[in-house]
Amino acid sequence: MQARYSPWWMPTVIALLSLCCVALFAALVLDRAAPSASSGGSASRGAPQNVITWDLVTSWPKKFPGLGLGPENFAVMVEEMSEGRLIVNVHGANTIVPPLGVFDAVSSGSVEMGHSAAYYWKGKIAAAPFFTSVPFGMNALEYNSWMYYGGGLELWREIYAPYNLIPFPGGNTGVQMGGWFNVEINSIEDIKGLKMRIPGLGGEVFTRAGGTAVNIPGAELYNALQTGVIDATEWVGPYNDLAIGFYQIADYYYYPGWHEPGPALEFIVNQEAFDALPEDLQKIVETAARAVNQDMLDEYQARSNNALTELREVYAVDIRRFPDDVMEMFRRHALAIYEEQAAQDPLFNKVYKHYFDFLARAREYSEISEKAYFELR
Ligand code: CA
Repeated sequence: MQARYSPWWMPTVIALLSLCCVALFAALVLDRAAPSASSGGSASRGAPQNVITWDLVTSWPKKFPGLGLGPENFAVMVEEMSEGRLIVNVHGANTIVPPLGVFDAVSSGSVEMGHSAAYYWKGKIAAAPFFTSVPFGMNALEYNSWMYYGGGLELWREIYAPYNLIPFPGGNTGVQMGGWFNVEINSIEDIKGLKMRIPGLGGEVFTRAGGTAVNIPGAELYNALQTGVIDATEWVGPYNDLAIGFYQIADYYYYPGWHEPGPALEFIVNQEAFDALPEDLQKIVETAARAVNQDMLDEYQARSNNALTELREVYAVDIRRFPDDVMEMFRRHALAIYEEQAAQDPLFNKVYKHYFDFLARAREYSEISEKAYFELR
């Protein structure tokens, strides 16, 4: 008879066990839900030892349209894909390091990651501009195919390895515009004595053609052009140029952007920081970088379509094509400069050969595919 009745304390034990089960279940569910529900990172999590936090420094003002949104989008994607296990804090230029301090900061490991452009590091690595864009080089489609399927990325990683850095292509503006001019360009003669803001190898070409290339930070460009300190400036393309308002102070908007035909940005990751990630998080970093690389190009194309229409129809901007003989002269100077630098620097020579060997074949195919189709439609 006794065996048929539960002891007096049994209901209490069952109630306690049930409570424990509910608490355990809630803890498990909340533990999984918490990271994606909060964007604040490790502070609100129950198990902070599972969360890795990285700092990412950039060369752009925080959330600068186009370029600056690349790292922001990357951080959001990584947090969501990793369910909050990898948090990337994005810092605009001059927050932790100056715009051109990105390479050294990531290389030394003082931060884990950066977003910038390889051609800024020309002083350290003469061949670096090939990983961004060079005058008369590849467009974005050709560049991406060189990177992912033509051995370009392996070469880039080999060259950055001594600096403790792993590079990833980090977005592309597509072919840029030639720039805003207050002087009409009708012949080679019109370049002589012209003062233009045009950085990098494009600037070297411009100077050799008789112009004066100057480098002025983006924030000062509008004033410099307005006050006549410079006669012309390149910037990016319709999307970014419309926002700055160059149409208010320049007479002509020239194309094409011979000097930056498909500039790629870069994500750089400190080697030890990357090695310390579990394999799935490494894959997430790689995948998010590749998604941003494509996404930025798509965004630039869409927004520039609209911005160009506005520049034309609302602001009646005079849009001109550079004369063929001017382009031909620039091309000759560019190729001469590459040959000279290749003779001086074995690493430059190696990347130059690799790049132009790929471009030679890409050009042949692009000729009868993209170009032929553009002309047709
Ligand atoms: Ca530019």
